[in-house]
Amino acid sequence: GNASRLSSIRAISSGKPIDVAMPKPLSKIWASDVFNLAKMEEALSKNAFKAMKKTVQTGSPLDAATADVVAAAMKDWAMSKGAKFFSHIFYPMTNATAEKHDGFIVTNAEGNAITEFTGSLLIKGEPDGSSFPNGSLRITNAARGYTAWDPTSPAYIMNTPNGATLMIPSVFMSWTGEALDKKIPLLRSNAAMDKAAKKVLSLMGEKNVATLNSSCGAEQEYFLVDENFANSRPDLLLAGRTLFGASPAKGQQFDDHYFGAIPERVQVFMQDFEDQLFRLGIPAKTHHNEVAPGQFEIAPYFEAANVAADHQQLLMTIIKNTAKKHGFLALLHEKPFAGINGSGKHVNWSVGNSTQGNLLDPGHTPEENLNFLLFCGAVIRGVHLFGPLLRAVIATASNDHRLGANEAPPAILSVYLGDQLEKVFKDIQAGDLQPSVCGGEMDLGLSQILSFTRDPGDRNRTSPFAFTGNRFEFRAVGSSQSVSGPLVAMNTMLADSLDWVAGKLEAALDSGLDQASAVLSVLKDLMDEHSNVIFGGDGYSDEWHKIAVEERGLKNIPTTADALPAFQDPEIIALFEKTGVLSPVELASRYEVYSEQYILSIEVEAKLVIDMATTSIYPAAATYLSELTSAIASASSVGVSLDNSLAQKVATTADAMMADVTALSAAIAQHDFPTVEDHMKFCANEIRTLMDSVRTHADLLETMVADNVWPLPKYSEMLFIK
Ligand code: ADP
Ligand code: MG
Repeated sequence: GNASRLSSIRAISSGKPIDVAMPKPLSKIWASDVFNLAKMEEALSKNAFKAMKKTVQTGSPLDAATADVVAAAMKDWAMSKGAKFFSHIFYPMTNATAEKHDGFIVTNAEGNAITEFTGSLLIKGEPDGSSFPNGSLRITNAARGYTAWDPTSPAYIMNTPNGATLMIPSVFMSWTGEALDKKIPLLRSNAAMDKAAKKVLSLMGEKNVATLNSSCGAEQEYFLVDENFANSRPDLLLAGRTLFGASPAKGQQFDDHYFGAIPERVQVFMQDFEDQLFRLGIPAKTHHNEVAPGQFEIAPYFEAANVAADHQQLLMTIIKNTAKKHGFLALLHEKPFAGINGSGKHVNWSVGNSTQGNLLDPGHTPEENLNFLLFCGAVIRGVHLFGPLLRAVIATASNDHRLGANEAPPAILSVYLGDQLEKVFKDIQAGDLQPSVCGGEMDLGLSQILSFTRDPGDRNRTSPFAFTGNRFEFRAVGSSQSVSGPLVAMNTMLADSLDWVAGKLEAALDSGLDQASAVLSVLKDLMDEHSNVIFGGDGYSDEWHKIAVEERGLKNIPTTADALPAFQDPEIIALFEKTGVLSPVELASRYEVYSEQYILSIEVEAKLVIDMATTSIYPAAATYLSELTSAIASASSVGVSLDNSLAQKVATTADAMMADVTALSAAIAQHDFPTVEDHMKFCANEIRTLMDSVRTHADLLETMVADNVWPLPKYSEMLFIK
């Protein structure tokens, strides 16, 4: 109650940052807890290492004998780091991770404890997976789920207070082989993209094209709140956001937090946090304050998408655990505080390989530019055709608070190219960019046009999907999300588009056009169909919302309830099926799981709203009301008539709040809906509206009820006291 709120403030003001050892040099700690190729080279025979390296770099299968050797070396290394347990770590269809720990220990006939870790234990695990969401993919009598080692993502040691554990990144599938996780589709989407990209590159005359992979650099925003406050806020603890709270007098109006000095306690936290990331081979690169008070960002250097996705997941776990150690609650929620900037996760994405480099880098020579234009064009086509898919993969109850609100990317998917590149594509469409062929050597003039000066200032912060010099940045992804879904969507739409490009290009070349003319003709067709998705203006403006929908034919998809049904669109089902990324059954299971999660998270919040309003806000209002009325009675007994308008307003507001609580209780009791889509719509429209209305009354009470009886830590306290 109020006493704990006020004592929290005292506890925090007298607290000291915890002691952390002086940072060790990077060379001493970098990847020290990772069984990476360097460690394998030390531990394995030449042949075993060669086989393993090939598997890591190309995904080729590993033979059983080598797996045994690798397993033994891995066990020895892990035990030398103090590990007694190992666990496959996998990535179920939630945004979390799952693990099942097993000991290395076995006993022999003499009753001695020995340790054992075979290739088959490394390769395959069998967690009791029936409690993970599977979207009807596993019927109960066939509830087996398997985890299988993903050798392309390195194993590592996780140190927790109860010991060290060898963690083995894994895929998770049903016994019939259906993907139950977020890693299998990511690996498949990479393979599909690789296949289609190779078609295009070989038509472009490229020889010995190496395996293409997608890259991901994810910027993670988060809030830190002192745990003394968090512990008196059930909403923060259970829903990750404040369901109540009046706006503070000082919010972020002055933007003085952005890139400002990082408070000492937070610096100590960050150092500890980043040291752990370095040990795990996660290349933490930048950190800074964010726009809102109490908000921060960390951005590791980009890595191969599959590894980056595992690292991102690990990073989220480590933020939370380390924050706890430092007396903070880390909030990864997209909108922990109403009226204050939310948190996103910008997913920077590109595709490339060791022979052609980054294909989204315009490069310096015309040939590179041609490849670049094709790949960039393919992305534009993909976003145009599959915008609703991109919207669906970022659709969660929590991200709905951010998307479409005035500070985050709009819920309309468009592409920002920057003035220079937009002009190149528009010129191509207009037939203005003429190739000139002289003496067999092409001079497109493109190399000049596209010699980019990568200006980090040249940003459009209002675009959900922006080209940023040598990559695309998907800015609408939610801060609490796994990056896998967005990466799968981007890789898959690109695979489809590159396939389309390859078909067109082949036809153009067959018709006798030279290479440059063929490329430009393909791109002209592409632009004729898809240029509507390119937009360089203010994505927040009302004007864009009108033009996008009415003139450009783009979709404005405000809520998850509107977005998730895209998984049922025939074109999207066909996209996933023909690229081999998700079968129709696998895709349907995702629709089922994500819509369940949406409904569940809104119901959890609604119950919390009811509970907090009834058991803490209403009682505070009643206490204050009785104080006020007894003061009025006392005054009257000495012949003074006090103004009773405040008491009346407290009474009527508390009463109105409880009326909405009653309506909300009735609403969440409803469970009969013809379809899951109807149920989602009901959550988005009815339940959310009632929750907001309870909150409006409660927040008004907060501005009237005496400070010393108000039970919940206030925005100004949570945001500014550290
Ligand atoms: P900003 O906040 O200006 O967007 P940051 O430096 O915070 O920039 O983050 C940019 C992210 O993009 C980093 O994770 C960076 O490693 C990543 N990145 C840079 N180049 C690429 C690329 N070619 N592919 C994928 N990610 C990239
Ligand atoms: Mg960015």
